[in-house]
Amino acid sequence: MELLQEMEEKIAFSIEKLSQVSRVLKWQVSKKENLSPIQTQSLIYLRNHPEEFCSVNNLAKEFDLREATISEAIKTLEGKGYIVKQQKKEDRRVFILSLTPEGFKVADKVSTWSDLLLKHIRRLPSDRKERIMLCMMEVIKSLQKAEVIGRARMCLSCANFQRDVHPGLKKPHHCTLTDRPMASRDLSIDCINYRIREDS
Ligand code: SF4
Repeated sequence: MELLQEMEEKIAFSIEKLSQVSRVLKWQVSKKENLSPIQTQSLIYLRNHPEEFCSVNNLAKEFDLREATISEAIKTLEGKGYIVKQQKKEDRRVFILSLTPEGFKVADKVSTWSDLLLKHIRRLPSDRKERIMLCMMEVIKSLQKAEVIGRARMCLSCANFQRDVHPGLKKPHHCTLTDRPMASRDLSIDCINYRIREDS
């Protein structure tokens, strides 16, 4: 029991160390472009998500931040000419955010924040990476269930996901939306087709 506790503490410590690295790397690219970390995060998010995911309200939920905090960051990005806001036709209370061509250029630059981290992760053997990925996803799922994390849009908590329905095969899982079998390494995170599962 003692040993397990120590191992859990070491895992938590390692996650904290990696979070520190992420913060420093994001801060470095942000500083170069004269952006705050939230502005950088917003640009990257808008670059990587379809229009229907790009309202202030949605960004606040994604980042687990207050709408007022996001609105302030968006106002600055608009002022810099990186973002435009458009009223949604179906609901005029909602504004959809999109990147301008200049915004895309800056978003491309700051998206490189993770390159160094990825370089070191890529050095790990494939089977270990798969195990780490699954363990991380299980922890995120558990934190989601405990309502510590808002959104992650992962297969593990998706209503379209069927786990181990093809036992013994290389791709034992199944996504009912795409109707495709999946290996554990194929499991998605931040999937735009995610559908929340009632028991997740
Ligand atoms: S819809 Fe996306 S998150 Fe859901 S099971 Fe399929 S791939 Fe996974």
